[in-house]
Amino acid sequence: MPSSKNKKSALQETKSDPSINLSKTSAEKIKALRRKSKDITKLTEGILSGNKTDLSQAITLIESQSKRHTEDIKTIISSCLPHSSKSLRIGITGVPGVGKSTFIEQLGLLLVDRGHKVAVLAVDPSSSVTRGSILGDKTRMEKLVQHPNAYIRPTASGESLGGVARKTRESILLCEAAGYDILLIETVGVGQSETAVHSMTDFFLLLKLAGAGDELQGIKRGIIEMADAIVINKADGENVKAAKKAKVEFNRALHMYPSKSNGWVPKVKLASALKNEGIEEVWDMLTDYFEKAKKNNYFEKKRADQNKFWLTQTIEDSLKKEFYQNEVIKSEFPKILQKIHNNNLSPFEAAEYLLSKAKS
Ligand code: GDP
Repeated sequence: MPSSKNKKSALQETKSDPSINLSKTSAEKIKALRRKSKDITKLTEGILSGNKTDLSQAITLIESQSKRHTEDIKTIISSCLPHSSKSLRIGITGVPGVGKSTFIEQLGLLLVDRGHKVAVLAVDPSSSVTRGSILGDKTRMEKLVQHPNAYIRPTASGESLGGVARKTRESILLCEAAGYDILLIETVGVGQSETAVHSMTDFFLLLKLAGAGDELQGIKRGIIEMADAIVINKADGENVKAAKKAKVEFNRALHMYPSKSNGWVPKVKLASALKNEGIEEVWDMLTDYFEKAKKNNYFEKKRADQNKFWLTQTIEDSLKKEFYQNEVIKSEFPKILQKIHNNNLSPFEAAEYLLSKAKS
């Protein structure tokens, strides 16, 4: 893949010396290059002017996994970067069936009604198996999807969590550049994806159900600890009593966790996404949080911490991959392991040896 610099110089050369006798194929190639770089500029302009089709096309490039698009993606992202970061990023998780789509649609409708531009993205590494288990079916947010100020992106991913996380982070930047000021990032609360979403959002909201079984099935200590708020959904009809009881229990449980470094005490709210009840209270709580977090600079600090996290994480992932793909390491590793097993070498000495081998 030629760098954009190379592309440019190739174009300049052809322009400045028309006598160059290009073979048909290279002339065609240059023509294609010219067309492509124009397309990328147009695409970026489209994103910045809020064009949904262009935004979708760029996200598709990000998701394509194709090395062919690496340079184009870099160009688009670097042009969009100065226009990003102005949004509120809200992570929403919960087990399948808890009502995430219904809740996000109601919250989204409330927000667009109040003049916000809302983008909904999903992180779902499991979709490689289930082929898009969340947001796969756009009709789940029928009303929201039709609103001019809402953008819903079903997940099209299916690979490692790291890969999905990177694509989501890049998609977030593009949505922000397209003027979306509130981002709702949905994830299924059954895997590790919550940790990734937690590390890319300003507020982490956990949807729960009251009643039998859920306490056993859903409460992973880590997820509760990450939550800035728990919303007990389906607090309607016969469920109301159980939901109120669960609220008391969750409030009690939350007090047993160490307090958050920003002084925020996680809240428990009741809602019925189906009946559109309690959604406004959730938004009031979010507004209250953002006001406080911006005032005490925690908002900025958290974003800076997250940037550092993704920087180090990406470097570590890349170094690790490089190390284990090294041919010398691949051949030495089993032998060294055997030596450790035979008590001929300690694991620490062995690690030092392999690391030095990888460098040489
Ligand atoms: P998701 O899998 O978490 O996205 O859940 P969905 O939003 O698709 O909802 C799953 C089912 O629960 C659907 O049949 C919804 O209509 C229903 N549902 C969602 N929210 C509520 C609610 O607040 N109350 C009741 N009674 N049902 C709800």
